[in-house]
Amino acid sequence: MILDILRECRNHPSAEEVYIKARMRMPTISLSTVYRTLKELVNEGKIWEIKVETENFSRYDYPLREHHHFYCKECKKLFDVDVSINGIYDIPHKIEECRAMFIGICENCLKGGEYESL
Ligand SMILES: [Zn+2]
Ligand SMILES: [Zn+2]
Repeated sequence: MILDILRECRNHPSAEEVYIKARMRMPTISLSTVYRTLKELVNEGKIWEIKVETENFSRYDYPLREHHHFYCKECKKLFDVDVSINGIYDIPHKIEECRAMFIGICENCLKGGEYESL
């Protein structure tokens, strides 16, 4: 159920946001259950836990493919960034995963765009 929510929710929700959505489907679910389930899914490698250095909470992602993230300091949104992990860096090792975090100002904010809520 939690996995379904993350699959549908492509905007890197926090545990609290997952909890709000989960409660609509299962009103009796508790926040601690949501946290525990998210932790299990992360441990099983089914979802990613993403930590933004300047934030004290994690966001969660159901990755359909390998991708990086771009974090906008203005609107605090995370964007998926498709980057081929081959041929960009000169790394002699076998790369299995690459999760970079780019930080800056997103296109929308650069244009002075309105703050959309998550
Ligand atoms: Zn932005
Ligand atoms: Zn993502």
